[in-house]
Amino acid sequence: ALSVGIVGLPNVGKSTLFNAITKAGAEAANYPFCTIDPNVGVVEVPDERLIKLTEIVIPKSVVPTAFEFVDIAGLVAGASKGEGLGNKFLGHIREVNAIAHVVRCFEDSNITHVAGKVDPLSDIETIELELVFADLDSIERRMDRTRKAAKAGVKEAVLEISVLERLKEAFENGKPARSVDLDEEEKHVIRDLHLLTIKPVLYVANVAEDEVANAEENEYVKRVREFAAGEGAEVVVISAKVESEIAELEGEDKQMFLEELGLPESGLDRLIKQAYKLLGLITYFTAGVQEVRAWTINRGTKAPGAAGVIHTDFEKGFIRAETVAYDDLVHYGSMNAAKEAGKVRLEGKEYVVADGDVMHFRFNV
Ligand code: GDP
Repeated sequence: ALSVGIVGLPNVGKSTLFNAITKAGAEAANYPFCTIDPNVGVVEVPDERLIKLTEIVIPKSVVPTAFEFVDIAGLVAGASKGEGLGNKFLGHIREVNAIAHVVRCFEDSNITHVAGKVDPLSDIETIELELVFADLDSIERRMDRTRKAAKAGVKEAVLEISVLERLKEAFENGKPARSVDLDEEEKHVIRDLHLLTIKPVLYVANVAEDEVANAEENEYVKRVREFAAGEGAEVVVISAKVESEIAELEGEDKQMFLEELGLPESGLDRLIKQAYKLLGLITYFTAGVQEVRAWTINRGTKAPGAAGVIHTDFEKGFIRAETVAYDDLVHYGSMNAAKEAGKVRLEGKEYVVADGDVMHFRFNV
């Protein structure tokens, strides 16, 4: 399953946020592809389109799509040199698809800051440097071998060396791999290095509970936003403490509490949506009277691959996919009306599924 790792220095609010995620989160058992593990929280992706589809189809049940957050605690300065439980944590980061980096933007004299004072940019740098050091280590180990291969005339090795050298230069300047401009082929030759700093990242600015409504005025938040903008990264501002309170509530109670706080939606919902985007994922739907359901695929997936997310048999026996764009279906108001208007297409094996497609697969068993 696709996963986002929650990282950050100690005492920034990671566990508080992770608890909110597991409390508000989904039952992993409903999602066969998800992991059952105390450090993994499954979240459902809020999607307004599901509500509209439900009004059109009136199904017995609705199932949103889901992904995982992994709590990766224990990253400290020196982790790449084996400080703390360093290597173990770096290993956990290697396994996730994207990173949510929590930074402390709240003052609280009762809660120790590991570096002695609240300074989000220095915190970001500390964590980022550990990951950069670990990556530098990975590529240095690889370089000797690749140089030999390049000398022996292996073509891929020549390309690989040039990529490794560019990465090395970035790492030596404390810059992450994601800051190096690599094309698809270049990314491909270094894929098996599983670099930590090539993973997409978003910053989670954790502010005090009484500051959520005016978080943009928080000086720490401003600094994080400025830094992230320079990296082309997103920032989600939350108060982990408030989120853990919201996670206890449901339905109207939750709505009322959010209104009191002056928030249109929970910080967790915003975080989930941003993280989903960060993973490069898109959603297609199946909409029958039994069930309306959202499914997750990587952008660029063709119709049989999309069918395979539901069941491998759907992929193996794929014949065609009856497909209508979400906007067309909503515009015409029913499947039949969309059909009459010629908006329902029969797509074959080469069709690249678009975000929001409503699909019905025909397959051989
Ligand atoms: P972790 O070490 O990053 O997992 O941090 P924790 O989630 O354990 O939080 C460290 C301390 O900060 C705990 O005492 C939390 O209650 C507190 N904390 C977390 N978020 C907030 C917040 O938004 N406001 C305040 N005042 N305290 C918070």
